[in-house]
Amino acid sequence: MEGYLESKVAEYKILLDWIDLEIQQLQKKGEYHHYLIENLKNEIQKAQLLYTQLKTIASINVPQLFIRAVPIIHNLELRTRLATHYYIPSLQRENDNDLFMRKLVLLSAKRLNLPWIKDPIVCFDGPHAIVTSLIETPVIYVPTELNVSLLDMAGLYHELGHNVFFRFSNIENDLLMTVSRYFDELIQSVGPMAPEKMRERRKTYEYARKYWLTERVNEIFSDIFATYVAGPAYYFFWINMALSIGANPYKINPIDLHPPLAARVEACYEALSPTHKHNNVIKLINKNWNAYTQNHKKEADYDFKCSSELLKRIVNKAIENIKRDLGLLKPYDKPLPDEKYLKQIPSNMYLEEILNCATKMFLFSAKNYDDWQKATMKHLRSSV
Ligand SMILES: [Zn+2]
Repeated sequence: MEGYLESKVAEYKILLDWIDLEIQQLQKKGEYHHYLIENLKNEIQKAQLLYTQLKTIASINVPQLFIRAVPIIHNLELRTRLATHYYIPSLQRENDNDLFMRKLVLLSAKRLNLPWIKDPIVCFDGPHAIVTSLIETPVIYVPTELNVSLLDMAGLYHELGHNVFFRFSNIENDLLMTVSRYFDELIQSVGPMAPEKMRERRKTYEYARKYWLTERVNEIFSDIFATYVAGPAYYFFWINMALSIGANPYKINPIDLHPPLAARVEACYEALSPTHKHNNVIKLINKNWNAYTQNHKKEADYDFKCSSELLKRIVNKAIENIKRDLGLLKPYDKPLPDEKYLKQIPSNMYLEEILNCATKMFLFSAKNYDDWQKATMKHLRSSV
């Protein structure tokens, strides 16, 4: 790879100089994000050290050292990309709408006992997503319809769930262990059968166990977290989204790192507080969801990979973790408002409560929903 390393050194010099300049500009401009910018500068300093190592290897110019340069390039790429793909463009474009959502996120993070989230940046550049490598200063992407749609705001809680998952590494370990134990029990419970059949059965269970990669466990945890803290509002948000996707909810796509839609819905239902599981909002949502799922067939291995028993165990373990790691965080179990109070514009409600009112209003008082939502949005914007 003659000359390649020297070229990479030159490439990263340009990139790091540019990043440095942009960060200086952002620092001059900003009344917000002092903490975030310091965090970002620390990351770039680490990138500078990697750059120095790469430069040294390139200057020695011994072909055997090339293999040592590759992981350095990989790490440099990850750190510079964090700045160039996510932080710098989001900070450069930040406007009043982004700052409004940021305030809502900070208020929710405080209420939900996520004190490590100190300086997030929210960017109206959907769909819902989060970059959580810098755990205290995540970049949260939200779709532009959040400017006019309260219902879609519930998606924020799923993204916060990803942040919690990264914050406490024991959650990943515990959930993966729960999955492993479940399949171990199944393998051990295989009764007497012909050796060939026994081998086949064990293979099926092993294959099903491997389906649950960290990424899929992370996704389902984030759904459980969101339902735990936002209740029916998230449950409706998610089913509304699953129905709009229009795919077979039982389809197991091997390249999709999200579990099947039906498994995620079932986990969310399990995570609802007993206060809500049988209320008229959930009954109405489930009636529609069941009508939809009845028209789809389960794929052959769905019940192996996503059985109700397994999902129940995952939900129980996830909630156990949430209670242990976020002790002060309470589940959303406030009863939904009575219909006669629905039209009231919330005065000092918190976001989870407003979103639950919005869900009930949307489903039970559709003709009044638009006016109510507009007035509520206006109130929300003026009060944060
Ligand atoms: Zn996700």
